[in-house]
Amino acid sequence: MSGGTRCNLTHDGDSETIMTAFGKSGLFLRQALQQLSPAATVRMFNRLGLATKVEATGKVFPQNDRAVEVRDCLLADALRWGVQIKTGTAVRNLKVSPEGGFDVVTVDQTLHADRVIVTSGGRSWPRCGTTGDGYGWLQSLGHSIGQTHPALVPLVGGAPWTRDLSGLTLPNVRLSVVPKILATANPLAAKKLGKNKRTNKRKIQPLAAREGGLLFTHFGFSGPAPMDVSRHFTAVDGFQRFALVADFFPEWSQAKLRDWFATARNQHGGQSLTSLLAQHLPKRLAAGILAATLGELESDRPLAELRQTLVEQSVSAIKSLDLEVHQSRGFDKAEVTAGGVCLREIDPRTMQSRIIPGLYIAGEVLDLDGWIGGYNFQAAFSTGHVAGQAIARHRREKGG
Ligand SMILES: Cc1cc2nc3c(=O)[nH]c(=O)nc-3n(C[C@H](O)[C@H](O)[C@H](O)COP(=O)(O)OP(=O)(O)OC[C@H]3O[C@@H](n4cnc5c(N)ncnc54)[C@H](O)[C@@H]3O)c2cc1C
Repeated sequence: MSGGTRCNLTHDGDSETIMTAFGKSGLFLRQALQQLSPAATVRMFNRLGLATKVEATGKVFPQNDRAVEVRDCLLADALRWGVQIKTGTAVRNLKVSPEGGFDVVTVDQTLHADRVIVTSGGRSWPRCGTTGDGYGWLQSLGHSIGQTHPALVPLVGGAPWTRDLSGLTLPNVRLSVVPKILATANPLAAKKLGKNKRTNKRKIQPLAAREGGLLFTHFGFSGPAPMDVSRHFTAVDGFQRFALVADFFPEWSQAKLRDWFATARNQHGGQSLTSLLAQHLPKRLAAGILAATLGELESDRPLAELRQTLVEQSVSAIKSLDLEVHQSRGFDKAEVTAGGVCLREIDPRTMQSRIIPGLYIAGEVLDLDGWIGGYNFQAAFSTGHVAGQAIARHRREKGG
């Protein structure tokens, strides 16, 4: 089911590229990525018989777009190495054993192990079995769990006119997460902020911004750009504190847009702003933005007759429209879980717990979540790889 059943297994780029997608937590991945980089991951899959391709966006997929073949080649390799796989055997608990090592309590038996790697994932898309069980075991063992919240999740909201655009996709929109006061169109608020230039400057920095695809839906907004910034809204009070602001012309500055309008006004004054804008945006969207900003009457008025203040308002709306989001689709539709096992408690070279020796924790159960684009699989592969290598080294040293 990953990558729309195509499995975007990693992202073509160096380790720094992967780390950037994880924000401040990205640094934690440096050493794991040194041991298993995106290029090494692709080589590993190719060795296992899976041909891959890189798309223009940098996303890496199986050559034949079949996610199931990614799973099958990993499964076949594990079986070749003699791994025993038990399915339908949920783990109920993980305890430090009184005789040393660990007891892994499953629904029907207790397994004993010297070393354990927990890769129980997050709590998003729980129909996959990812119901967040691992957090409870790890907390009982003394680990701190950063508050979990949905990430890479579609956002609910918009206005009736945006919901009417359901099904429309834009290939490149810039979405910013900004403190609410800055998104308001209230001129008084703007004037107040303008009085104190230092405060204004500091506040004007968006908390996050992403350029990418935007899909209008019947409930709100989906696609890579809204999903990439969704984690900021689903965090505590995120929807109260932040606004989602869209720039529908990210390649153009405000000045360039203004010049374009002015030239059109001089040369084709009989044309309406809506039909001018429809040269660059889908007509339904152009009409929606302008009707919501100026009212239908003004947006259909010939450009030559449109007051300059209304032209200015249109420029602002096109470059920074508040999309008004108030909710997410929740863990059910989140591709990733933000929050999780506190990274300070994990050795980034081996993924070994700093609290319980012999316990290793890798993948999404850790407090790591990255953008859409193959980054999350790469983090899971690299952290899983170093944990496995560390245990293998330990066994060799013990002569096992
Ligand atoms: C719909 C969807 C599409 C996605 N597409 C992509 C993509 O294309 N590219 C990308 O990079 N990322 C994608 N992701 C994110 C990616 O799948 C995860 O980040 C990644 O799988 C995390 O790997 P993991 O091994 O840590 O955890 P998971 O892959 O979630 O594996 C955890 C496993 O633990 C099992 N488990 C949990 N609790 C128990 C228990 N109590 N007992 C026994 N087993 C248990 C679960 O059943 C699951 O099999 C997608 C996610 C979703 C939901």
